[in-house]
Amino acid sequence: MTTTYHALTEAEAIAYAQGLPNIFSPDAVLTSREIGDGNLNLVFHISDEKSGRSLILKQALPYAKVVGESWPLTLDRARIESEALQLQGSLCPDLVPHVFAYEKELALTVMEDLSDHVIMRKGLIEKNKYPLFAKHIGRFMARTLFFSSDLGMNQQEKKLRVGRFINPELCKITEDLIFDDPYRDSENNNIEDHLKDAVQAIWQDRELHLEVAILRNTFLTRAEALLHGDLHTGSIFIKEDSTKVIDPEFAYYGPMGFDIGAVLANLLLNYAGQEGWSAGETERTYYREYLLETVKEVWTVFEREFRALWDNETVDPMSETPAYQDWYMNRVLQETFGFAGCKMVRRIYGLSHVADIDGIEDAAARERAQRLALAIGTTLIKRGRQASSIDELIAVAREAS
Ligand code: ADP
Ligand code: MG
Ligand code: MG
Ligand code: MG
Repeated sequence: MTTTYHALTEAEAIAYAQGLPNIFSPDAVLTSREIGDGNLNLVFHISDEKSGRSLILKQALPYAKVVGESWPLTLDRARIESEALQLQGSLCPDLVPHVFAYEKELALTVMEDLSDHVIMRKGLIEKNKYPLFAKHIGRFMARTLFFSSDLGMNQQEKKLRVGRFINPELCKITEDLIFDDPYRDSENNNIEDHLKDAVQAIWQDRELHLEVAILRNTFLTRAEALLHGDLHTGSIFIKEDSTKVIDPEFAYYGPMGFDIGAVLANLLLNYAGQEGWSAGETERTYYREYLLETVKEVWTVFEREFRALWDNETVDPMSETPAYQDWYMNRVLQETFGFAGCKMVRRIYGLSHVADIDGIEDAAARERAQRLALAIGTTLIKRGRQASSIDELIAVAREAS
């Protein structure tokens, strides 16, 4: 097979997998299924009927397709994704798929098959509980963010690392879709008619715009840590006893609160979605309590583990300065509020929505969920710079409901 870039066919994916050293035996009978969502990448599930072995080939496409539109998008994001997965794997081997190979010419990553897990967004919509999730994702964020920051790695090496993860094209998607389009009448927005009044109010809210501008500036300028960059519940594979973070093609050096805020925002979007997914008040309250406990535990585990790494593993000579660690953690908390809020707002009427909300068929329940998510999101954005405890974030969700 030619290795000049082209989108692989199923037959080519099989031939490629068969040629990988030390994975399938020569007499393997391989089948392929393309299981991607088809927007940016191909995902081939390759399995051997005889041995039961399987793996995933993820190939970047040279364009993005969203709502019929198509624009060019760099294939270099496959390198970024495979390098990010490998760095994350060196810090938390149990929390990401193992990468077997990366093929630059084909923009292709060969990785562990996680088909025994489910995408967390789906699991939450089915109202499953995942008792280890907060511990897993809290540790994932503490370790990946700490050890890629100036606190946890040599500061000259870090600058070189920043250079490998500039990722301007994927960052622009975030900058436009999260920190720009939702705050003006942009053609990228995707607004249901019944929400026009709420959206108009956001377009006119100067106080809100200032906070979003500050968060956008932080996203644009603060090379603090290597972020996953797209850490929503659609990028998390989960089952009872295991959590795996996938799809870090948006990885770049940015503010830590952006990843933490993404996780919390997606828990809160499901919280809002319970307007439609719960049959009655009892069921709704019950699952919402679980979600809020999880929100709190994600932050608490992150903070505890991050502080422990700071106390035991830092390379920063100023790290023992009295009150510096407390100042740092509080700033991360404040930005987590703000980024969580931005991520909620854009999922309600921006370009790309979430199934936790749009999957609600009853129009009245969907509208209640949308308005609740907007109320929580905009309040978090406005409260962020005054925040001092995760309990305030939970109070915002409770008071809005
Ligand atoms: P995209 O960047 O296009 O969103 P993802 O990495 O999120 O691609 O993968 C898209 C879908 O492909 C996932 O939702 C999942 O269903 C499937 N998938 C991706 N990686 C794996 C994997 N390692 N094991 C099993 N399925 C996977
Ligand atoms: Mg996708
Ligand atoms: Mg994805
Ligand atoms: Mg992706």
